[in-house]
Amino acid sequence: MGEIVYWTIIRTAVVLPLLWLTRDYIDEKYWWIFSLLCITLFIIYPAYFSYRKFVEKNQNVISETLCASCKHFDQSAVLCMKYDKHPTENYIPCEGTDWEPK
Ligand code: SF4
Repeated sequence: MGEIVYWTIIRTAVVLPLLWLTRDYIDEKYWWIFSLLCITLFIIYPAYFSYRKFVEKNQNVISETLCASCKHFDQSAVLCMKYDKHPTENYIPCEGTDWEPK
């Protein structure tokens, strides 16, 4: 999840200055449309697509592991907050010893 946020910030840091530089070359009424299109295509859509891919990849961990029912598990980041590690289908950081119900 942090990777998605990181790359979204990087893309934003690149796209916004480039859009600002194009202001002198594109008529203002078209520049706003062009800007919204670029922001959607290069910032919002890749972030949304990456998030969907992240959720799809971790669907089993979120719904079927021991961690999924533990109060220390953060579903949005697929992270054990107690151990600060990412559980997988085959890896439970505490091996079940610190599991607590939600
Ligand atoms: S404490 Fe154990 S069971 Fe709970 S989320 Fe962390 S690793 Fe999973």
